[in-house]
Amino acid sequence: MNNCIFCKIIQKEIPATVIYEDDDVLAFMDIGPIIKGHALVIPKKHYDPITETPDEIIAKLHITAKKIATAQMNAFGADGVNILQNNGRASGQEVEHIHVHIIPRFENDGHHWNWKPKTYENFDEMNELAGKLQEQL
Ligand code: AMP
Ligand code: ZN
Repeated sequence: MNNCIFCKIIQKEIPATVIYEDDDVLAFMDIGPIIKGHALVIPKKHYDPITETPDEIIAKLHITAKKIATAQMNAFGADGVNILQNNGRASGQEVEHIHVHIIPRFENDGHHWNWKPKTYENFDEMNELAGKLQEQL
């Protein structure tokens, strides 16, 4: 895909610090780490967003994410790992080539997600949304 920065990394048109590669996926260090050691895994073929990506690629991305999470724990002594995958600008996605973030976490690493749980007005409101989802599943 033209002008896709991650396709350019795959084509070796721009550099990346690669940590893992096979026929389907490439994993490399994120240049703007939320926590040092933050890595990304991408498919070698351009897909985006998750809803347009074949199931076998989704599986491969997450199997690779598991390998990287294990490596972060073993190599860095990470106490935990966040696995994230953004879809669409509304979600905060900046690079429109599907990618999974693997972020090592440490006790007292100082990072806090801006995660503020809200409440439903009542159970009916939640059940109505659940019903709409069920119809699509
Ligand atoms: P997202 O907001 O989910 O689209 O995340 C895109 C991620 O790609 C960000 O964490 C960036 O730091 C990272 N990123 C962008 N360009 C590069 C690059 N050339 N090499 C490595 N990571 C990159
Ligand atoms: Zn691409």
